[in-house]
Amino acid sequence: MKLIRTSLVLTLSNGGVCILGDFLVELNKESAIRKAICDNATHTMVGLLGALIMILEKNHHRLPEIERISLIVMTMFASSFIDVDHFLVAKSFKLSRAVAIDRRPFLHYATIPLILLILMIPLYNYFNSPRLNVWLVMIVCAFLTHHTRDATRRGFTFWPFGTTKPLPYIAYIVCIMIIPFILNKWEHLITGHYHYGTLEIQTV
Ligand SMILES: [Zn+2]
Repeated sequence: MKLIRTSLVLTLSNGGVCILGDFLVELNKESAIRKAICDNATHTMVGLLGALIMILEKNHHRLPEIERISLIVMTMFASSFIDVDHFLVAKSFKLSRAVAIDRRPFLHYATIPLILLILMIPLYNYFNSPRLNVWLVMIVCAFLTHHTRDATRRGFTFWPFGTTKPLPYIAYIVCIMIIPFILNKWEHLITGHYHYGTLEIQTV
């Protein structure tokens, strides 16, 4: 019961962070640097909350505490780091150039999380490593939540096929709130009800 309540609070917070973050981005639109800081901070917070929800729901895996913390920190930073491709494509550290690029930078291709999600099946069959899938699904969370936030303005880019229409605002908020649960379900479907406690006992 406590788990459901915490999950619900984190999920509602995630929606709230998006709305507040978008408001602050809009409020600071006259200043490119302030706008970029608000936008990236919102991506970071959404990644953090998504990771917290996923780890909380992954209780059955009995992940070691250090790994749980590492996964949360990795997802949070990955959510923020994705925007670095603007600078790489612009070949400049200047924000004005990074935001003025004329195409979608490569880390913003929705094809990346899609391929990772599909790859989880053969990778699990080959390596039989639930741990690998846990890390992969958390990386997907960073990509998918970041792309979903950006999709309200620019749609999803499925390179090399094209770009969808922008995502309606309410659909974006709902997607952000349900993505962690859907991803956990996907990982659970592939890996099953696995937990590390059993592995440790078996290997001793
Ligand atoms: Zn972005």
